[in-house]
Amino acid sequence: MLPADLHVHTEWSWDGYRGDMERSCEVALEVGLPAIAFTDHAEWNTVHEGQHSVDIAGYHECIERCRAKFKNLRILSGVEFGEPHWFPEEAAKVRAAGPLDRVLGSIHCIRLGGEPVDASQFRKRPEADHGPAIHEYLAETLRMVESDQQFQILAHLDYFKRYWPASLPPYRPEDYEERFRAILTAAQKRGTVLEINTTRGEDGGRRMCPDLTVLKWWHEVGGEAVSFGSDAHEPDKIAARFDLAQEMVEAAGFKPAPDPVAFWRR
Ligand SMILES: [Zn+2]
Ligand SMILES: [Zn+2]
Repeated sequence: MLPADLHVHTEWSWDGYRGDMERSCEVALEVGLPAIAFTDHAEWNTVHEGQHSVDIAGYHECIERCRAKFKNLRILSGVEFGEPHWFPEEAAKVRAAGPLDRVLGSIHCIRLGGEPVDASQFRKRPEADHGPAIHEYLAETLRMVESDQQFQILAHLDYFKRYWPASLPPYRPEDYEERFRAILTAAQKRGTVLEINTTRGEDGGRRMCPDLTVLKWWHEVGGEAVSFGSDAHEPDKIAARFDLAQEMVEAAGFKPAPDPVAFWRR
């Protein structure tokens, strides 16, 4: 049986133009998912056109409508917090608005020259800035993990690799091993779950966020648990490449959970 897809966006995300919570529930049942978590964007940087945070009241109503309609599917509520440690008051309001079953912590933006810059924009900057930006991205991730912000799952740890410039030597996590190990050690200490994000997971799994190399480090530092997330922004991408991801997670030493909603554990 497939593991639950614990990272899915819907029309309640600012970039969910093709998102559709109801249709996502139908697809989840069609592909045999036991459970799905809708984790819409709760974030307050505005680096993209039209970027805004989830309308959390409307989102919760939609969750309840879907739960009433799709009784054979376990529907988990959630959000994907972007840089929550920069916005503690806003994040607290979202948490107070209703129960959240799965909460993701993500870094999309870092501060460069005082301005927030999304990692998808790094490639537009001079090549010489790229290495320092990656180091800052990982330093920011560590700051979030070491903050008092409540989140359960550390999402797409090396998000920046989706946007790696073709003009640079290929990305190797080994080049940032020390920073990754610091993040993973801090995440292990606070009992965080590491997400395998399968967006762009083609190419034998090397483009999974993170890939097998980092996942093995997670096991080495004593990381307890792993979750699976497609980061789908449209129904047809739900659970994409979960077959490949499951093989990778098992190869790193983690075992399937008896309860499909539970995390895979060491
Ligand atoms: Zn994200
Ligand atoms: Zn996402």
